[in-house]
Amino acid sequence: MTQDMNLSEIERRIEAIQHRLTHLGPMHPGSLGEQYNVCGKAACRCKDPKKPQKHGPYYQLSYTWRGKSTTRFVRPERVEGMQRKVANYKRFRELVNEWVDLEVEREQAERAQEKHAGGN
Ligand SMILES: [Zn+2]
Repeated sequence: MTQDMNLSEIERRIEAIQHRLTHLGPMHPGSLGEQYNVCGKAACRCKDPKKPQKHGPYYQLSYTWRGKSTTRFVRPERVEGMQRKVANYKRFRELVNEWVDLEVEREQAERAQEKHAGGN
């Protein structure tokens, strides 16, 4: 009966993952980076020889999706929202990986159960 216990435990965990996936909210692949720039003006503060103050931060979102790499700027007022989306996407991938792990375990548990049943 140990295999039955395993199987129901696996199914319970899969259901919990499915539940969490439906509540993830908006997501986006990639990572956010901060960037500081030097401009073209000769006498700008960003070129001060003693204490250069570069322009920024500028936020960039970089991601690769379906073989295509993209990097683009994110406006300051959208950075917080994008951080949430990127975190949700990361969580989404973790949950999917956990789900697939459990499906592999489920298959093994089912096979073990059949083997056991066949042996009787
Ligand atoms: Zn400048």
